[in-house]
Amino acid sequence: MYSPRPLPMPNTALVIVLIGLLSWGCRSGPPSDRLLVLGIDGMDPQILRTLMTEGRMPHFEALAQRGGFAPLQTSAPPQSPVAWSSFITGLDPQDHGIFDFVHRDPASLTPFLSTARRGESGQLALQRRGQPFWEILDEHDIPTTIFKVPANFPPSQSAESFADLPFFCPCAVRSFSGMGTPDMLGTYGTFTYYTEGPYTVPAHLEGGGTSLVAGGELAVPGGKIIGVQLENGWAQLPIHGPMLDEESVQTHFAIYLDRQHRTAEIVLGQQRLVLQSGEWSPWITIDYGRKPYSLERLQGIARFYLRAAVPSLQLYLTPVNIHPGNPAMPISTPPEASEELHQALGPHYTQGMPDDTKALEAGVFDYGEFLRQDALAFAERRRQLRYELGRFAAGVLFFYVHSLDQVCHMLWRAWAPDHPGHRAEFAPYQQAIADQYVAMDDLLGEAVAMLGPDADIIVLSDHGFAAYERSFNLNSWLAREGYLALAPQVSLDQAHILNEGHVRWEQTRAYGLGLNALYLNLKGREQHGTVRPEARESLLSELSQNLLGLRDPADGRQVIKKVYRPDPGADLDLAPDLIIGYARGYRASGATAIGQLESAVLQDNLSPWSGDHCMAAEEVPGVLLSNKALKPIPHHLRDIPVSILAYYGVAPPTAMSGHSIWEE
Ligand SMILES: [Zn+2]
Repeated sequence: MYSPRPLPMPNTALVIVLIGLLSWGCRSGPPSDRLLVLGIDGMDPQILRTLMTEGRMPHFEALAQRGGFAPLQTSAPPQSPVAWSSFITGLDPQDHGIFDFVHRDPASLTPFLSTARRGESGQLALQRRGQPFWEILDEHDIPTTIFKVPANFPPSQSAESFADLPFFCPCAVRSFSGMGTPDMLGTYGTFTYYTEGPYTVPAHLEGGGTSLVAGGELAVPGGKIIGVQLENGWAQLPIHGPMLDEESVQTHFAIYLDRQHRTAEIVLGQQRLVLQSGEWSPWITIDYGRKPYSLERLQGIARFYLRAAVPSLQLYLTPVNIHPGNPAMPISTPPEASEELHQALGPHYTQGMPDDTKALEAGVFDYGEFLRQDALAFAERRRQLRYELGRFAAGVLFFYVHSLDQVCHMLWRAWAPDHPGHRAEFAPYQQAIADQYVAMDDLLGEAVAMLGPDADIIVLSDHGFAAYERSFNLNSWLAREGYLALAPQVSLDQAHILNEGHVRWEQTRAYGLGLNALYLNLKGREQHGTVRPEARESLLSELSQNLLGLRDPADGRQVIKKVYRPDPGADLDLAPDLIIGYARGYRASGATAIGQLESAVLQDNLSPWSGDHCMAAEEVPGVLLSNKALKPIPHHLRDIPVSILAYYGVAPPTAMSGHSIWEE
């Protein structure tokens, strides 16, 4: 039995009929089975093995016993958008065209997010190339649901991802966009924190030490801090919205604070709620009014959390998420799938990564508050898995779980006593990472029970995890070694390669942008390129040798484990010239990613963001488990789409070079 599908739009019906006719002969028998592919971002084979040995992961252990468990090789670099793009297309980065979470325009050096970009028409277009495996399944009439796979916003087959072909919108696969889906401000998540009390930006963030002026506003990475001045316990406060016609849209709410009872009453349009200190509100609708030239309303959803009522008001508001029942941007295919999910389960996070790591980094959440918010988001995801499994009658269900990756990023220093950021006060959270693994085991147990015996399962992760103890600033190193020339009056700690006049480009041979990318200042490609194409090879060899020889002055450890030279293929303008594969313990600093220099080339990482995976691919393989026996050979993310197609007897397209993971 197939899952119900909405009728295609009249103008796409012909296309779908044609695809159906063309693929008729390729089908290898009716797909009567069900295959669940559970994607757990950041699950690490070493940690999983240890917890399985300790008997804490019985459902993973049972799955490994029934079929198999092996490490899964990942992409270089092992960043989620890059790795999941390989999972989706079966291609390497040079073929799917996603090399780092940030790319740059070589002419202007302007950085931009790599997976989605606005075209000249103003419409967002997915940048990933290659054919997603679900389109091939669809050509063979195999019903497929893709639940929040990263690097798929706008969802492929949606109207916006076909911006150049506005009348081609097949919309046959049911899919929901995940990581990469913005909030209503167009960012990857911007919280708001309303506070009467003092607020100072933590030292590990850009602008560290800056204090909020009473009644003023302060921007921090991923958040806005708004100073509140109550009059007789009352204030009217803004909720920021998207830019429309070059103006920022806002709405407002009123707050009445009752310090004696430690409660706050919030009134937003017709909605009224009372929160106790420490309480989260349900999702509420944020209505920005009518869309321009339209009768439709521009709406998002958000939740308040009353952090404190005494001695001063501290109120957190989640990023305003795209309303799943009235989405302002495409977040599902077909478009009505999101509304249907909203009707079935109510409002829920739609932003790509719901865990508010930025609020924790900004000191707006402590660890306890971060883990509680993570638990709220994970509970939603778990209800969604139940719902999807409940309607999973045939075909393939891919389901993505975000939370393990996020908790490992933020809690690593709490469980690793030798991390430079470890502090005794984190003791209550030392087990948070292990607890998340146990929660994944519980989730798997429920999924296996709901699936029943006549279905198959793959569990995989995009990469593993390691400590992020020391930060490396690539541009500061390039400046120190004479590859990047700063203007004489600019010091390392002030320099930014994107600032006018900071870099003497005519004397610069290389620069870094993104977390793992190094680019040559190539003549004919970069605006002020100096490196002649014939000198490219020898300069890359010299840089690779010097980077691999780099030792940490603190303890002599090797900083960079591997340097990759991607084959630029057709992407000579876009592809990095080198991909830097850090050793476990090391990562590019956040400043490096945006082109900012720092006075120290290497320094301790004292941010809560204390675990990571943007290292050499060989340092952080992911996991692969299945109830069916695995071939005893190494497996790669590229092999998974080939295996999903093989499950239904569908030959992969020639561009997919992977193999089936299963024993014949
Ligand atoms: Zn991650």
